[in-house]
Amino acid sequence: MSGQYVPSAETIVDLDALRHNVALLAERAQVPVMAVVKADGYGHGAEPIAKAALEAGAAWLGTTSAAEAVNLRNAGIEAPILAWLHPPGADLSVAAKAGVDLGVSNLDELRAAEGAAVHLKVDTGMNRNGCSPEEWPELVRAAKGYNVRAIWSHLASADEPGNPSVDRQVERFEWAYEVALAEGLRPMRHISNSAATLTRPDLAYDLVRLGIAMYGLNPVPQHEDLRPVMTFRSSVVSAKRTRAGEGVSYGHTWVAQQDTTLALVPVGYADGVPRGLSGKLEVFVAGHRRPVVGRVSMDQIVVDCGDDKVSVGDEVILFGPGDRGEPTAREWADNLGTIDYEIVTNMYRPRVRRRYL
Ligand code: PLP
Repeated sequence: MSGQYVPSAETIVDLDALRHNVALLAERAQVPVMAVVKADGYGHGAEPIAKAALEAGAAWLGTTSAAEAVNLRNAGIEAPILAWLHPPGADLSVAAKAGVDLGVSNLDELRAAEGAAVHLKVDTGMNRNGCSPEEWPELVRAAKGYNVRAIWSHLASADEPGNPSVDRQVERFEWAYEVALAEGLRPMRHISNSAATLTRPDLAYDLVRLGIAMYGLNPVPQHEDLRPVMTFRSSVVSAKRTRAGEGVSYGHTWVAQQDTTLALVPVGYADGVPRGLSGKLEVFVAGHRRPVVGRVSMDQIVVDCGDDKVSVGDEVILFGPGDRGEPTAREWADNLGTIDYEIVTNMYRPRVRRRYL
């Protein structure tokens, strides 16, 4: 007994691909890049992603919570970090002491951000967080004694090139900036996410906040040389011949029409394979795309391999970059009626080992 722990599945995170994407996008943006590493780096691991993005030329990091930002500081990362969504009553002093910049959407947050550099967020039409235009002049006046590093906002429909809401938001953003200037502030401005960076270079201002494209997933139809960073893989634990007429998995929703080889793969909905993909999922086994048959269970899926020769230990790719013909996170998302952001972000799973290339 070697005692070696063998995980039933792993996500492989290709940091070279990430660095390639960051360099490409930084070149495109022509302004400093903020690498958005919230939600554990969109499921890829915040700390290694942050470090690789900085190596590849990102200047800033972005997180949702101050706690995520402080974790990065504790990991020895000294680059500027912005954290922008704070639970009510959050004590932001730890983040301020750690030199984390704080997004501020209202007067309460401004008070809580005492001691930190602040980025005042104006709601230009997304109608989530951010200060309403009505309250903006008051927030700007109140912020005059603070270190106001930036004003910023977030676009609702940058992934729909030509959607008129983008220009409506930009108009309000320009107005908000004029208000800040009139109060004597000289902040930076940032509004672009990945989609805007790719389609609206005129909106880069002083900084772009890049998430999904950095992970190699393209939010807009235009072709880009982005390399998907995450591959989700497992391996065959058993392969057996099954006779025509036999049903597979709970409810026997699939019944073999002819004798076939069924491969068992030890991943299920507890590991990030959505049960909603039952009947719609294909995987890549030993170089071929094969259908997953029957229902996705908590810990297992069954693959119909026909008359292919399949052996225990053969690699099974659930999704990957797609360049060998394997399914992609986008394909999963399309089948589920969601977006690939959700697929990769859901891959932070206790039973799935992460491995970095
Ligand atoms: N900026 C903010 C405020 C965000 O919430 C996000 C992510 O949703 C991003 C930037 C990055 O967006 P994307 O992943 O579309 O590039």
